[in-house]
Amino acid sequence: MRKPLGQGQQAQAALRQSEERFRLLVAHALDAVITIDLQGLITSWNPQAERLFGWPQEEVLGRLLSETIIPLAHREAHERGLARFRATGEGPVLNRRIELTALHRNGTEFPVELAITPMQSGKTTFFSAFLRDISDRTRAEQALRDSEAGFRLLFAHNPLPMWVYDVATLDFLEVNAAAVAHYGYAREEFLRMRISDIRPPEDVPKLKEVVTGLAMGMDHAGIWRHRLKDGRIRDVDIMSHSIEFAGRRAALAVAMDLTELRQTQASLARSTERLQILHEIDRAMIAAEAPVAIAEAVLPRLRDLLGVPRAIVNLFDLATGEVEWLAAVGRRRLRLGPGVRFPLALMGDVEALRRGELQVIDVASLPHSPDAEALLESGVLTYMVVPMIAGDELIGAVSFGGASSEFPPEQVSIAREAATQLAIALEQARLRERVKRHTDELEQRVHERTLELSAANEKLQREVAERQRAEAEAARANHAKSDFLSRMSHELRTPLNAILGFAQLLELDAQRPEDRESIDQIVKGGRHLLSLINEILDIARIEAGRLPLSPEPVRVGDSIQQVLDLARPLAVARSIELESIGEALHSQHVWADHQRLQQVLLNLVSNAIKYDRDGGRLTVACHAVAEGRLRISVTDTGPGISPALRERLFQPFDRLGAEQRGVEGTGLGLALSKRLVEAMSGVIGLDSAPGKGSTFWVEFLQAESPVDRLTRTEPSPAVLASPAERDGTVLYIEDNLSNLRLVERTIALRPGVKLIPAMLGRLGLALAHQHRPDLVLLDLHLPDISGDHVLRELQEDPELRRTPVVILSADATPGQVQRLLAAGARAYLTKPLDVRQFLALLDETLSASEAPDE
Ligand code: ADP
Repeated sequence: MRKPLGQGQQAQAALRQSEERFRLLVAHALDAVITIDLQGLITSWNPQAERLFGWPQEEVLGRLLSETIIPLAHREAHERGLARFRATGEGPVLNRRIELTALHRNGTEFPVELAITPMQSGKTTFFSAFLRDISDRTRAEQALRDSEAGFRLLFAHNPLPMWVYDVATLDFLEVNAAAVAHYGYAREEFLRMRISDIRPPEDVPKLKEVVTGLAMGMDHAGIWRHRLKDGRIRDVDIMSHSIEFAGRRAALAVAMDLTELRQTQASLARSTERLQILHEIDRAMIAAEAPVAIAEAVLPRLRDLLGVPRAIVNLFDLATGEVEWLAAVGRRRLRLGPGVRFPLALMGDVEALRRGELQVIDVASLPHSPDAEALLESGVLTYMVVPMIAGDELIGAVSFGGASSEFPPEQVSIAREAATQLAIALEQARLRERVKRHTDELEQRVHERTLELSAANEKLQREVAERQRAEAEAARANHAKSDFLSRMSHELRTPLNAILGFAQLLELDAQRPEDRESIDQIVKGGRHLLSLINEILDIARIEAGRLPLSPEPVRVGDSIQQVLDLARPLAVARSIELESIGEALHSQHVWADHQRLQQVLLNLVSNAIKYDRDGGRLTVACHAVAEGRLRISVTDTGPGISPALRERLFQPFDRLGAEQRGVEGTGLGLALSKRLVEAMSGVIGLDSAPGKGSTFWVEFLQAESPVDRLTRTEPSPAVLASPAERDGTVLYIEDNLSNLRLVERTIALRPGVKLIPAMLGRLGLALAHQHRPDLVLLDLHLPDISGDHVLRELQEDPELRRTPVVILSADATPGQVQRLLAAGARAYLTKPLDVRQFLALLDETLSASEAPDE
């Protein structure tokens, strides 16, 4: 139930209502709301105040406001203000918006905006304060202030020219110091000008277009031409931004002068091109291009780089006083030489060029000539001549020119560089061409020479073939000749033997001296003829390579002794004393055919006797010469032989005039001797002086004696002893005493065996008949008849046919061995004798002959 209220009650109720409203208002206010009493103690504290200052309501109620939210520095002022209000009821800060610094519970200070209002509640006065944090706003204001200052700074101190202009009127609104410095106008002048004033007039329409865009808020960047106060035109890179400026639509422009940069770029491009040209020349040079190709590759670029309408590479022919175009480039066309020739005078002072000096030629000043005319016609009024010098030689010039007589230093230096490089390249190329020409010529010559040589070669081959045919022919003829000779000698010898035989019989019976003399003539003639036939035959055989030789160790002393024995009767007849020296060497052996050595020595000794004076002296000497050789010499006391005649000495049939002196001879002895000695690897020679006698000598290789060899190499006789005692007779037909001795010693090992030696074939045959030996040992080279002959006769003899014949020969050619075995020889032993083999054969043969049935 409700009771109606009294007036006081109503008033109180109204107050309460209003207080409640205020409380709600405060609680939900956006600002912090704080009330304090006159003493400055906090009486209310809304949630915003809690947030703003960090104090909860329950902690601050009743606290002094000044101690809670006012920074220490301002507390005193606050207290003073409050005291004054208490005294006067007035305060300057009341009822208006003020800004202060407040203190947060955490100690930080921050700006606040507040309004303080005194209020009356009944009799009590209190103050309510509305506070708001204005930190953000303050910061923004500060930022704006800072940014403006920054902008000003940037604008004013920017090293790049900057300005602001009105996009509607194009008036300059502001310029910076850099613009003033760069363009040459004072700031005041600028501010009276429009941006079109710093453009060349022709660029203004385009400028207006761009500004229209800027007016619509678009930015712009581009390169413009600007005119400075002094009239110079510069290339400038402009960046424009549309901005507000002092409430006007404006544009801020930043200018960057590119003129220097562009110039630098252009000169960089030129120097790149320059290098490119030099490189081009080098490349052509390395690629071994021809001079004209080098000029062709370089000239158009050079013309462009020089910025001239015309450039020519000229080669000088100093001998004829002419110039020839290697290549010429005009505005449109490139002409490659050669062909165009003109006088050297057009190149200016040649001596100066040679010194490396440039020539500038004014075409009008040239003497009147078709060439000068042509130049003028093609628009060349002046041209520069740059010498090309390779090494020390002026080889040509690069010339270029046009209407202008200006040749800027850069142009000149480019032309010089190119000319220097071209000179080197052209010289190289010319050198290469010369070398190539030379090589080609050489190749041609080599080719021709090769042809010649192969022709000569063919001819030579033909000739060789021809000669071979001729040689074969000659060999055939030679064969035929020696065949003929041997047949002839046989045919001649048979009747000759008859003539000689019967002549000797007749001689026995001849009574009358004149008959005896006639017969003597026949015998002499016959003997002469016989020796002639024998010697001719020997020479023919040697020359046909058909003379059988059997070299073996021959004891020097034996040969000398035998020859002296044979010569003694002749010497006695002429009262010539015979002498032998160097006999200590007689036991030495030489390597020779025993019989042929004998023949040679006999020939020398008989010559010595024939040509010596009566009562002279003949000396046969033996000495060792170097390198294991022995020399046998025959010296006489005859007329000697003059050096002039020596060459003819060994020619067949050349008797050196002896035929006129009535000395008998054939003129074949020495010729045959020389051939025989050489066939036995010996040397024949002569030492003589006219009137001082002659010394003929022969030299042979020394050999070991077979007997020495036997004692050196063979084992003791005990080893060689026979298994059983053998008896028998052995006939050895051999003329070489060394061999006889060897066999003798060997057979001595078989005491039951008797050895019969025979030094001639016929003697051997006779002894065979007489002694009927058990074995015949047969040498093939015998003084009278050949071993073949002996074998044949033995084989043909019914009584001796079964006697075994063993051949002992130095000749070991397989054909020979085969032939003799086929002819009936039991065995064929070669010299030097293998004693063991010989004994085995001896034992075997003798034991077979002892068999009862044999
Ligand atoms: P010939 O049968 O004439 O002796 P040779 O060939 O033996 O032939 O000799 C040739 C020539 O050499 C002889 O005719 C002679 O004139 C000369 N002659 C050879 N030996 C002597 C010598 N010992 N003294 C001088 N002259 C010689």
